[in-house]
Amino acid sequence: MKDIAVIGYGGQGAWHCDRIFTSDVCNLKGTYDIRDIRNKAAAEKGINVYASNEAIFADPTVDAVVIATPNDSHEELVIAALKAGKNVICEKPVEMSVASLDRMIAAANESGKLFTVHQNRRWDVDFLAVKQLAESGEIGKVFSIESRVHGSRGIPSDWRCEKAYGGGMIFDWGVHLIDQMLQIYKQKIIRLNCICSHITNKEVDDGFKLDLFFEDGATARVELGTYNFIAMPRFYVQAENGSAIISDWKHKCHVAKLTKWVEKDVTPVQNAAGITKTMAPRDSLTLDEYDLEIPNSDAHDFYRNFCLAMDGKAQQIVTHAEVRRVMQVIEAAFLSDEKKQMIEVNI
Ligand code: NAD
Repeated sequence: MKDIAVIGYGGQGAWHCDRIFTSDVCNLKGTYDIRDIRNKAAAEKGINVYASNEAIFADPTVDAVVIATPNDSHEELVIAALKAGKNVICEKPVEMSVASLDRMIAAANESGKLFTVHQNRRWDVDFLAVKQLAESGEIGKVFSIESRVHGSRGIPSDWRCEKAYGGGMIFDWGVHLIDQMLQIYKQKIIRLNCICSHITNKEVDDGFKLDLFFEDGATARVELGTYNFIAMPRFYVQAENGSAIISDWKHKCHVAKLTKWVEKDVTPVQNAAGITKTMAPRDSLTLDEYDLEIPNSDAHDFYRNFCLAMDGKAQQIVTHAEVRRVMQVIEAAFLSDEKKQMIEVNI
């Protein structure tokens, strides 16, 4: 069992503490938050509260720390923890620029300690269903994926509203959705276009539409909205031999697999202005429709992998190279939005 302390006892710090409590691979050593009210809340739950972050770093029994503070503070805390000889899990987004991430990676390499990022939405079953469908080749090569999350309550009314803290939805949710997409598409990105929305917040993005264009012709749309009172499907996938859709978080992945390209008698669709055979839906003579089983997933596997990797018994699941690639996309996305144009990239 590894001993872990959590820095920052806000929403996500408390989530980590709960997770570590029920973990089969690590113990919770304690937490510290710069706000007394949060330290009090931790103490009331029976959690050991340290006197400071430095007290955590100085405790030789702490094997690793989780950094669960607002985004602008990650670099300083991660580097301090690594320098103190601790292994580190940093919350997403790792930081706000590639340059900042590079300094963190350099500190990790120098310290010889493990440094990873909590990209926990790699364990989301909707994402896993699409990833497994793409990898299986069940409906042929996937050439287009649309990944969307639509809410209707604007940005949470905390530091996420302010640029200085690393607010905005690209950093908050985009980082998950881009990470997921790049777990499916490993090929090179050659162009991207991003449009941010500012419906409820002028300072930071409250949503975005990001289009990625890959070297082999595949495309991806990653979209997030916080002002959508009707949500679009979570995933929509097109492949050489079929399509797939996940309508909602709780729904299974529905697949329509082409069994025969040529159709004999297409029943036309009629509406007020005319009829169409081209756009008429296919029937079961040429299409096989079914739902995929929900994939198995256990988010505790993140900590299981981290503890094994600390002992050199496994490769860390969330690698520096993967985190860097996502950060490169985020930087280019902001540039594209600022310039209001498509950006040529090599990512
Ligand atoms: P929060 O505001 O609820 O909590 C942050 C806490 O950190 C606050 O209590 C604050 O007092 C404390 N803090 C700030 N600076 C500190 C410092 N230097 N030392 C110690 N404590 C400090 O925010 P949150 O929602 O918990 O988000 C924290 C981080 O977790 C962010 O990076 C966020 O993006 C991430 N997060 C990840 C997920 C996920 O699914 N992986 C979900 C939510 C949040």
